[in-house]
Amino acid sequence: MSNYKINTKCVQGGYTPGNGEPRQIPIVQSTTFKYATSEDMGKLFDLEASGYFYTRLQNPTNDHVAAKICDMEGGTAAMLTSSGQAANFYAVFNIANCGDHVVASSTIYGGTYNLFHVTMRKMGIDFTFVSPDCTEEELNAAFKPNTKAVFGETIANPALTVLDIEKFAKAAHAHGVPLIVDNTFATPVNCRPFEWGCDIVTHSTTKYMDGHGAGVGGCIVDSGRFDWMAHKEKFPGLCTPDDSYHGITYAEKFGLAGAFITKCTAQLMRDFGSIQSPQNAFLLNLGLESLHVRMPRHCENALAVASYLKAHPKISFVTFPGLEGDKYYDLAQKYMPDGTCGVVSFGFKGGRTAAETFMKHLKLAAIETHVADARTCTLHPASATHRQMNDQELVAAGITPDLVRFSCGIEDAADLIADIEQALTHV
Ligand SMILES: *Cc1c(COP(=O)(O)O)cnc(C)c1O
Repeated sequence: MSNYKINTKCVQGGYTPGNGEPRQIPIVQSTTFKYATSEDMGKLFDLEASGYFYTRLQNPTNDHVAAKICDMEGGTAAMLTSSGQAANFYAVFNIANCGDHVVASSTIYGGTYNLFHVTMRKMGIDFTFVSPDCTEEELNAAFKPNTKAVFGETIANPALTVLDIEKFAKAAHAHGVPLIVDNTFATPVNCRPFEWGCDIVTHSTTKYMDGHGAGVGGCIVDSGRFDWMAHKEKFPGLCTPDDSYHGITYAEKFGLAGAFITKCTAQLMRDFGSIQSPQNAFLLNLGLESLHVRMPRHCENALAVASYLKAHPKISFVTFPGLEGDKYYDLAQKYMPDGTCGVVSFGFKGGRTAAETFMKHLKLAAIETHVADARTCTLHPASATHRQMNDQELVAAGITPDLVRFSCGIEDAADLIADIEQALTHV
């Protein structure tokens, strides 16, 4: 599929049935797989032969869907995980262990920030958070001798900052480590970070990829371009024998193309077991088949909503990287010329009370702890996800008490604007 355009890859990537085989990816609802001899199975355990033996490690349905996402991103290997949280944890933990350090953008998703700042710190991994807007000098100063990776989000959820992927990749490579980018909000339809020097991509497939609020999931994709062996001393897990796998050295045996994902599957999935169910992988694939049709509509609707709000006298600010004049408009044009995402955030001249009143009167847009869905959904962080914080703490976290996050679905833009308009009359 690799010579086809992204639209074709969304529909047909990852699975090409042979004569008389099912047109749709079969759901292999089986925990295990049968073999004639113990020797046959032994070869699989030694990673000497490829094949299926237990769904915690690999399942054909999941592999087809991972192969599609891999193709869409332009990578060499990919794996599905049970959630976006698992994908980000595995991607980082596959190369950074106790005593190591990671540089991360400060505006990443709250769940990922918590994973890094609280939970992974307890595992002995240290993180330095830098502003996505930092200078090259500030970025380079964040590295330490034990730094193993750099992490950022193409478009941050919910801050809507745009990562200067080339700047972050350059700094990562100058220090001999890979750049990991969470590409959830942009999706490979709008941005393929590998084309800009990123080495590993992660996804919360729960968002646009699934697109219908049906299944939580995640994915990790490797570009196959980071040369682990050239930085052998930094990545012993990939470049020295794995005693828990009969002395295999992943970077030697599986090369640039396969080492990262094979190690991640053979060690982390084996031991932590955050698998996606084949049923959910099937649902995810249905979402992927229309991703290229939905993304432009999400973006179009968000631009219409952002433009409407920008001109409204009751609105104090609008943040949307696809809107001319936005702080990240130029970066968005560079990395995502065809569109960014469907999420807009904005605030009210009337402050927190105005935001609360507005939310109460929305009819079409539903209040949900979700984004990037076919149906428009919205959240007032100060009274929901961030309600434990006082107004001062909110401002420090970059979330003003009047901020509303509005995730435009694929309904008619005129109906979304009419809903916003009628809710605003009550403010
Ligand atoms: C939602 C989200 C996650 C977490 O994904 P889950 O599937 O909810 O575990 C990670 N990164 C980004 C950018 C997200 O939006």
